[in-house]
Amino acid sequence: MKLCWFNENKLGVVDDGLVFDVSAALQSLPAPRYPASPGDLAIANLDTLRSAIDKALPTARSHPLGAVRLLSPVANPGKIIGVPVNYQKHVEEAAADVATFTARQTGSVLEQGFFLKAGSSLIGCGQAVHIAMPERLTHHEIELAAIIGKKAKNVSESEALSCIAGYSIALDMTVRGAEDRSLRKSLDTYSVLGPWLVTADEIADPQTLSLRLRVNGKDRQVANTSEMILYIAEQVAWASRFYTLEPGDIIMTGTCEGVGPIIPGDIMQADIESIGSMDVRVIGEATA
Ligand code: MN
Repeated sequence: MKLCWFNENKLGVVDDGLVFDVSAALQSLPAPRYPASPGDLAIANLDTLRSAIDKALPTARSHPLGAVRLLSPVANPGKIIGVPVNYQKHVEEAAADVATFTARQTGSVLEQGFFLKAGSSLIGCGQAVHIAMPERLTHHEIELAAIIGKKAKNVSESEALSCIAGYSIALDMTVRGAEDRSLRKSLDTYSVLGPWLVTADEIADPQTLSLRLRVNGKDRQVANTSEMILYIAEQVAWASRFYTLEPGDIIMTGTCEGVGPIIPGDIMQADIESIGSMDVRVIGEATA
């Protein structure tokens, strides 16, 4: 099932170019309480929600995909975990261009570990990436995103994939420079998630998916998730030794070679096999 949030926080199911408004199914969720339990309420109750969606679908109103504005398919993630330099050719391109990537941190994910992005940076593909610092270089990074489905602590690699609710396409937008990643990758709109969440039952193997990012129709990043250095099961297991993973947590599983600059007016077109594709606009003031 392909789940999305659209327009004014409506819940949708995507099928064959249409978005079915299944917001009525939200009645099945427990009422929010204060203080809230950790995690995203919809993802934490996904099984209940899916039963209610199945009941709502036959009478749901539909809209053409092109006529709706897609928001982030995870509304309230507790954390966004970043996985740096997780494709060997990206390790090599970063090492070869010290002026852009800085030599402050070197090596692959195995040496560098993970980082966190601010939740306030998250948008959907129907919103736009806003370049607020035109004097700095902003790069695109296409990544497969894994959405955690249940609380997980110290899970083994063999249990890890069963903790995942679904997958989306992520753009880990990045200001290049010497500061910590948690700062440079957390500007408002610098975490794009979309176009929807594909539930894990539809992705037989997340390590065999081709991914591609084009800017204004030209290929920039083309790779396959089989080329990851640290596989997703290993990422979940390792991350869960440090963090308690909660429903709705997003893991951006790393980008491949071909990262490059974007400027206002550009359109980023991101595709991942078995998930879909999304066009994301870049806005902001042009450099003087
Ligand atoms: Mn990244």
